Amino acid sequence: MDSERQGDVVEDAPRLSRGNWSQIGAAYGAGCYFCVRTFGATHIRTYHTESNGDITALCPHCGIDSLLAGVFDTKVLAACCERWFSAHAPIGSEGE
Ligand SMILES: [Zn+2]
Repeated sequence: MDSERQGDVVEDAPRLSRGNWSQIGAAYGAGCYFCVRTFGATHIRTYHTESNGDITALCPHCGIDSLLAGVFDTKVLAACCERWFSAHAPIGSEGE
């Protein structure tokens, strides 16, 4: 993934992470940009249905609806986390 495409993913992350159930199945997995973990599609067991009928997958680790279909590069996920969850301390960090 080149840096321009990576930037698109970072900026579009909130949109890409909604209604993504079928995309995650097609990509055989996803990455979570809240807890910055990746996993196969079969690990995802929870989801919720949007008001428009789209199905949004929830992270099997943290339960947040911040999954990006087919994104397994933790550097991209970390960049999304920093962009959208800047107040959230990454898992594994100690203190400030
Ligand atoms: Zn997560």
